[in-house]
Amino acid sequence: MAAPRTIAVTGASRGIGAAIALELARRGFTVACLTRSGESPSRPHDAAGRFIDVRCDVTDEASVARALAEAADEGEGLVGLVNNAGIHLDGKSHEFPTIDWQRMMATNATSVFVACREAYPHLVACGGGLIVNIGSFYDRIGVKRNLAYCASKAAVGAITRCLAVEWAAKNIRVVDVAPGYIVTDLNREAMADGPLHDYLAKRIPAGRAGGVTDVARLVGALYSEDIPFLTGETIYLDGAQGIAH
Ligand code: NAP
Repeated sequence: MAAPRTIAVTGASRGIGAAIALELARRGFTVACLTRSGESPSRPHDAAGRFIDVRCDVTDEASVARALAEAADEGEGLVGLVNNAGIHLDGKSHEFPTIDWQRMMATNATSVFVACREAYPHLVACGGGLIVNIGSFYDRIGVKRNLAYCASKAAVGAITRCLAVEWAAKNIRVVDVAPGYIVTDLNREAMADGPLHDYLAKRIPAGRAGGVTDVARLVGALYSEDIPFLTGETIYLDGAQGIAH
């Protein structure tokens, strides 16, 4: 029997998650697309790999456990998990509601821990695998009105490091891919023109925001290339914005 090549991707309905799912399928992987609706966007017919649609709300532990079991079952094993689903809420810290803090931590951080934990037995059953967590370059900078988002993404970096250390003996690697500003359907207009575009053109040494394919190709490369010594790291993909003075 062929070795399993199934990777589960959370938040695969749109944006960066949809691009990652497509890129992995192009590279021949079977992609379990975990979405809240259980449906995914239209896909090309020429992808080398196949898609499995699975319903999953990442804030619901039972849903995550069920979805990963279904992905492993239909995909004949699980060798990867991409924790991409996330939300962004902002507001002044002195009046930021606790409920919004909790919602953001639940969706961006607790979900990553839970999905990793629930994926663990499936990865171990396949002899190991690679978990890629989608963090953010906001994890290491101070951003006004973004305390909860920054904290949630810093937690993703910490989860990545702890699991990398704890699960290395099981041949499970864990990497945090931390993008900078990425153009998606939601922000395309604001990024193309006007004050945000002008600000980013000045602030990002690369001179522009990234695209979803930048993130997708990095994640695809991490799965396609065999780099056993790479684990626990946060890889920043931000056009050097996070280190610019
Ligand atoms: P997006 O276009 O808003 O997509 C977010 C995705 O997360 C959607 O698929 C959404 O599903 C899913 N999601 C949200 N809550 C969920 C839940 N409770 N259960 C399951 N899925 C849920 O965002 P994006 O820009 O592609 O961002 C993807 C990831 O990259 C996030 O973790 C984000 O923090 C990170 N990131 C983005 C940028 C950027 O500039 N875009 C920069 C750095 C990091 P629905 O379709 O059902 O809502």
